[in-house]
Parts: sequence; C-alpha cells; structure tokens
Amino acid sequence: MRDYYELLGVDRDATLAEIKRAYRKQAKQYHPDLNPGDDEAEKKFKELTAAYEVLSDEDKRNIYDRYGEEGLKGTMGSGSYTGYGDIFEDLFDIFGGFGSQRRRNPNAPVQGSDIQVGLRISFKEAMQGVEKEVKVQREETCHTCHGKKTENPDSVHTCPTCHGSGSVQTVQNSFMGRVVQNMTCPECRGSGKIIDEPCSTCHGSGKEKVKKTIKVNIPKGVDTGSVISLSGQGNEGINNGPPGNLLIFIEVEQDKDFSRRGNDLYIEIPISYSQAVLGDIIKIPTLNGLEEERIPRGTDSGHVITLKGKGAPVLQREGRFGNLYATLKIHVPKNVSNEEEKLLEELLVIQGKDIEKSSKGLLDRIKDFFD
Ligand SMILES: [Zn+2]
Ligand SMILES: [Zn+2]
Repeated sequence: MRDYYELLGVDRDATLAEIKRAYRKQAKQYHPDLNPGDDEAEKKFKELTAAYEVLSDEDKRNIYDRYGEEGLKGTMGSGSYTGYGDIFEDLFDIFGGFGSQRRRNPNAPVQGSDIQVGLRISFKEAMQGVEKEVKVQREETCHTCHGKKTENPDSVHTCPTCHGSGSVQTVQNSFMGRVVQNMTCPECRGSGKIIDEPCSTCHGSGKEKVKKTIKVNIPKGVDTGSVISLSGQGNEGINNGPPGNLLIFIEVEQDKDFSRRGNDLYIEIPISYSQAVLGDIIKIPTLNGLEEERIPRGTDSGHVITLKGKGAPVLQREGRFGNLYATLKIHVPKNVSNEEEKLLEELLVIQGKDIEKSSKGLLDRIKDFFD
C-alpha cells in the first residue's frame, strides 16, 4: 500500500483539519455510489478511508509515523482499535446521511404547510375583541391544470430512472458492511413522473400563489405573543392531503394610560394635596367607564386602590377578568392662581410651626449624634 500521506495528498506535518479536508474531497470523488461498477474507484476509496482512519487518530498517526503500517498491525488487535465509528460519522456528514433521502410513496397525501402572519391591534381592540382582515398568500391548486401539472395528459409518463417510485436505491457491500441507500430520484425529483409539456401557469408545480383576504375574529383578552390558529386556512395539501393552518401572531399596542401585566391592569391617578389630606370621592377610569371611589383622610402618595374584576378580560374564560390597580399620585402644580398662592402662604406659616414641632425629636437626636 502507498504512503498514507501521499495517498491523501497532504504533507507529513498536515493538521487534522487539512487531513479531513483532503479526505472529504477525495472520498467524494471516489465514492462507489458515484462510480457504480468502477472497481478501481472502489479500491481507491477503501485505501483513502484506511489512510484517513489512521491519520485522523493521533495515537495511530504517531505509531504510523514511527513504525509505518507494520507498527499498526499490533494495535489493530490490541483492543485500542475503535472501529469505523468516527469514519462512519464523517461519511454521514459528507453524503447527508444514509437513507435520509428516503421518500414515501410519491402519491401519498401530505398536509399543506402553515402560513404565519403578524397582526398589530390596539389596546382597546384587545380588550373588547375585534374582527379583522388579514391578507395572505396561499398556495393553492393551479387553476389552469387543476394540479395535474400539465394541460396535456399525454405528455406525462412514468420516470424511466425510478420506474415511478420517486426514489432510487443503491445496495453496496463495503468495508462498513451492507449499506442500503435510498435517494430521491434525480430525474423526476421524487414525483415518479416526467412531464414533457409542463403547465404554462404553474410551470409543472401544480400549485400557484393566490392572494387571499381572510376574516378573523380576535377574541377579547389577547396579548402580545398570543397566536390564533385558523385550522385549514394554510397552504393546500399535496395529493389531496389536508391543508395547513393559518397562524396569526398578535401584537398589542401600548395604551397611553393603562399598562398591563397578564390580566391585571395598572393606572396612575393624580390627586391634589388637599384631597389627600381631607379625603374625597375620586373618579377612576376603567374599561367600562368611570368608577367612583372614596379616598380616606390622610391618604399617602403611592396608595393603591384595588378594583377587583375591573382588569383585562381573561382569554377564552367568558365573564372572568383580572384586577385594576389604581395608584394615587399627589399632583404638585407648577403654577398656581393668586388665590391659591395666598392660601398656600398662610398654610406655609402654620405648617412651618407644625413641622418644627414634629421634627424636633429628629433634630434633637441628630444634635446628640454630633456631641
Ligand atoms: Zn424518477
Ligand atoms: Zn398548472
């Protein structure tokens, strides 16, 4: 046998990557499947594989470098020999996997693929539900040939390469044992038929893209990320297989006032300082209009009022709703009227004394701290 390096066409100090690349390139060229009946090619392929098996393994390569092929004979039987596992995987890479091209009966019904579209709706629409129209491009049976792929039935004949099965099989006795490969027939691309005069509309695919406008009922309670599936509204199936589905991915626009987390809604309500001190009845906007709520005397800024069942509708749970949380924020005006100004200044004088009194304890403590 020739020198392994020479065989693969690499230098003696070639890296593993270089060895791999060289092997793949040559293996493709001499693979028995691509050279049927060529004994020379098969012999060469086996030699290449044997060389690669050694040079791609660091230990075996070391032995080969020092003692040549003779040295390896010992290791083959010693138990360190790992078999063809790695090479099998490499070949798998190169040829796309044995049998992976296997096709079922080319006339078997196949379900059509799904169509996916995005749909943006307003917050209000999400809260109330809405009917929308979506535009899709759907694959349907060609209207010219009715899916027969040709207008002239006499121009269709059985593929001579695969005899109508759509796949070709090669059985090969190689160093790896008996390997059966099923590949899509290259002549008819798996259809089992050859068409001399393909349909002028669909060019022999049997399908055409049709623009459709589809009405869809968006149920109340949807949120960004909700997906609505309309079964049977996707692309048409092959060989009378069922159609795919239409998947609508919902995006809900942000509202100016309400924010949302799941089914709960949040809103900020400004109140005045005097309302916070004296208490009052305030109006809180909800999805169903204004709700009156009493706020007690001495309400703090940041106080949260919970309105049970006034949140977002729960998707597909009729009559169920999340909560609405209204956070009260004391509003500090930037400008005030003359009258307000006068009253506030009076208030300032009175409150100044109050604050002095109530902060006396604090000031004393801090004084102690520095003493
Ligand atoms: Zn064929
Ligand atoms: Zn057609």
